[in-house]
Amino acid sequence: MAFDLDMIQHVYAQLGERVEAARQAVGKPLTLSEKILYTHLSSGPATEAFERGKAYVDFAPDRVAMQDATAQMALLQFMQAGRPQVAVPSTVHCDHLIQAEVGATADLATANSKNKEVYDFLSSISNKYGIGFWKPGAGIIHQVVIENYAFPGGMMIGTDSHTPNAGGLGMIAIGVGGADACDVMAGLAWELKMPKLIGVKLTGKLSGWASAKDVILRVAGILTVKGGTGCIVEYFGDGAESLSATGKGTICNMGAEIGATTSIFTYDEKMADYLRATSRADIADAADAVKQHLRADDEVYADPASYYDQLIEIDLNTLEPHINGPFTPDLAWPLSNFAKAVKENNWPEKLDVGLIGSCTNSSYEDMTRAASIAAQAATKNLKAKSEYTVTPGSELVRFTAQRDGLLTTFESIGGVVLANACGPCIGQWARHMDDPTRKNSIITSFNRNFAKRNDGNASTHAFVASPEIVTAMAIAGDITFNPMTDTLTNEAGEQVMLDEPQGIEQPVNGYAVDDAGYQAPAEDGSTVQIAVSPTSDRLQLLESFPVWEGTDLSGLKLLIKAKGKCTTDHISMAGPWLKFRGHLDNISNNMLIGAVNFYTEKTNAVKNQLTGEYGEVPAVQRAYKAAGIGSVVVGDENYGEGSSREHAAMEPRFLGVRAILVRSFARIHETNLKKQGMLALTFANPADYDKVQEDDTIDIKGLTTFAPGQQLTVVLHHADGSTDEFPVNHTYNQGQIEWFKAGSALNLIKMQVQA
Ligand code: SF4
Repeated sequence: MAFDLDMIQHVYAQLGERVEAARQAVGKPLTLSEKILYTHLSSGPATEAFERGKAYVDFAPDRVAMQDATAQMALLQFMQAGRPQVAVPSTVHCDHLIQAEVGATADLATANSKNKEVYDFLSSISNKYGIGFWKPGAGIIHQVVIENYAFPGGMMIGTDSHTPNAGGLGMIAIGVGGADACDVMAGLAWELKMPKLIGVKLTGKLSGWASAKDVILRVAGILTVKGGTGCIVEYFGDGAESLSATGKGTICNMGAEIGATTSIFTYDEKMADYLRATSRADIADAADAVKQHLRADDEVYADPASYYDQLIEIDLNTLEPHINGPFTPDLAWPLSNFAKAVKENNWPEKLDVGLIGSCTNSSYEDMTRAASIAAQAATKNLKAKSEYTVTPGSELVRFTAQRDGLLTTFESIGGVVLANACGPCIGQWARHMDDPTRKNSIITSFNRNFAKRNDGNASTHAFVASPEIVTAMAIAGDITFNPMTDTLTNEAGEQVMLDEPQGIEQPVNGYAVDDAGYQAPAEDGSTVQIAVSPTSDRLQLLESFPVWEGTDLSGLKLLIKAKGKCTTDHISMAGPWLKFRGHLDNISNNMLIGAVNFYTEKTNAVKNQLTGEYGEVPAVQRAYKAAGIGSVVVGDENYGEGSSREHAAMEPRFLGVRAILVRSFARIHETNLKKQGMLALTFANPADYDKVQEDDTIDIKGLTTFAPGQQLTVVLHHADGSTDEFPVNHTYNQGQIEWFKAGSALNLIKMQVQA
């Protein structure tokens, strides 16, 4: 079977001893996160305490998961590392490249033919290096992981920012770039700054329309998109114990929307139930035997404020359903205030499309709760007024939902069941629209709602809510509808209300699946060939980035001063570009095309200082590269928030950008930049951002004495002959400085393998 009981038993066998060593080292009772972190130190049992938010620590994760868009680059990098097999259990999941257009069967067939070259590459490279391969249509990475691989007390990394979904089963699961995955698969330690801890105490019990989704929508409203940065969010309390494991997964999944390193729940009966329901009773038994180590120490629960860096309390008894958006997932509206907000902000009231599912909300429980609303359309003589799509998270859920009649219920209100894949969530959506630039509203049960994310239309107002709220809204066709208080006019002209949703946590007749879509790797992959055509426009073997020249940098041109939000979607757009994820040269043509130029307020138009003309960002950068001139990208707060894709770091590196200088970074992106040998710098004084001018030539000084904790200096040479000079900060430790000097972390691995 897909999971690895031996590995888990090995982790549990040493858990007690390692937890005790950690308790001694830290010198006080431990939170759950600390127990898992300290029992996964690559150096063995803890001998010292690591300061939260400061110390860089080497870990040994138990597992790696990769989705198909990020796996290409991760595995192209792994090929370069020269190792015969992956060092830890690893999997690849084909979920991001399937475009939603007409429905599951046809869309999957199209994807199989369009992406054949990529799927063949991933399948053969998985086969060769001992990696489990989940075929297109098998499901979305995080749902497949929670169904098969996540286990309480474990640690995994995944090349996708919603990897924390596995926290629903009590695992520390962290989204990383492909370069980190490559390190761990190569058997190297994985480095992370010891996270701070945010405790969320949940009391009471959800009822009525409120669901697990509303917990995280509320938390996002409290903490905002930056509030979890550098932190693990640890949930506990009697309220937490009342939530299903998959509901917990939803909450952990969307921890990515507050920038959290990951989120996790204490091991409890609900997790054991889910493990047993998904054919993992032996893991539940093993976890039960060590369950005192799969929760924080009692002293922590008795006085949480003394052990967490920040504490939030939420009473589930009074939690209202929430709708978050548009354009950012932290704009949280309690349902009772939402209609007013829609009217005051002039957001389109008509709902064009309701979309349920995705990795965030496609458990069996989610499907049953949404179906309980959809079923009322027939019994109450209502017709759904909006388009409605359903994305099952895995073939296990889809097959079971079909068997139990849930999909038929969705189809009865016009629902279109899409492939078990990311689809509209990642912009893989061939949306049928009269005018693709029209201002309109959609509501999804997904996690992320940045402008253009779902359909590429900046005027699409995307809101996020639970699947049952989405379904109610799709029936109403109007986002000002409040199903808790409002009536709908049915086909007979009567006023009717929707009853509260009813969910079933685990299917009464058990889960079922015909073909889950899993391919086990070859026992001996040494003779397996991996073909990459030199003429391919989808895949390209990598060449090493150049090593640092050993001097300070001077004469760099300002490429762009990005204004406001600059997410990884702005830096390396998804949607149509996904198909080039394995071809660095081609995908680099999307570099920063979504970033807003501070000087012109336009996207993808920057001044080429060599000609004085405005051009597209990648073209201007290629001109600098051709002229042998480096450049600098300047950005604002939380630069690189969003996803873990290292392309957002590799593209500027490949095209010759030398430094990214911003007010602040999102964690994963900052690490990715360091891995690729790029300088990731922050203004020591955020107001110095204002000193940067459009025609600046830039020097970076202090590199010959580059050291942890020591500022560098930036000199701006303005067009009028004046200069500005100011200090900039960095967070490089000594090991990361070696990456910079070697040209990239991968260059350093190669040197070590060859040594
Ligand atoms: Fe796929 Fe969306 Fe989940 Fe990312 S968040 S894994 S794109 S379904």
